[in-house]
Amino acid sequence: MQNLKLPVTIDPYKSAQRRLECVGVFELSEMKRLLDACESCAEHIEVSFQFDVDELGLVIFSGKGSASVGLICQRCNEVFDHKLEIDFQFSPVKNAEGAADLPSYYDAIELDENGEVNLRELVEEELLLAIPLIPRHELNDCQADADSTWGELPEELDKPNPFDVLKQLK
Ligand SMILES: [Zn+2]
Repeated sequence: MQNLKLPVTIDPYKSAQRRLECVGVFELSEMKRLLDACESCAEHIEVSFQFDVDELGLVIFSGKGSASVGLICQRCNEVFDHKLEIDFQFSPVKNAEGAADLPSYYDAIELDENGEVNLRELVEEELLLAIPLIPRHELNDCQADADSTWGELPEELDKPNPFDVLKQLK
C-alpha cells in the first residue's frame, strides 16, 4: 500500500463538485496535541475522505480512519495499545449562523480565510475526541487485581480538595 500524503487544507466546494474521493495518510508526529495526550502514537493514520453535494444542495464531506496509540491504564498504570476510530461527516460553513442552519446530522466546520478547511486539524480533533475519558485495559488484560480495585476511588480523588483549602482561608 502506498502512503499517499493527504493535503493539509482543501477547498471543500471544488472537491464536492468533483465528487472527490481520496485515501491517504497524515503523519501523527505533526499532531502535537495528540502526542501530548498519548504515551505513544503510530507513525501515521490512514484516512479516507469523500466529498459530495447532498440532496439539499449542501456541500458535505465524510471520512473514516483509525490509528493505534498507547494510553495509560487508569487502573494499573501500565501502557496499553488502543485503536482510536474516527468516523465523521461535516458540512463547511462560513460562520456560526451557517452552523445553526445545518441539519443536525452534520457537524459544522468553519472555513478558514482562504475558503478552505484544515483536514489535518479536523482529524486530530476527531482523534482527541475518540480517546476514552478513563482509559483502561479490558478487565482480563489488566495487571491490577480486579476484585481489590473494583469500586475503589482512583488515587487522585483521595487528594485534598482544593476547595477545602479555600474554606480554611475564610
Ligand atoms: Zn490495566
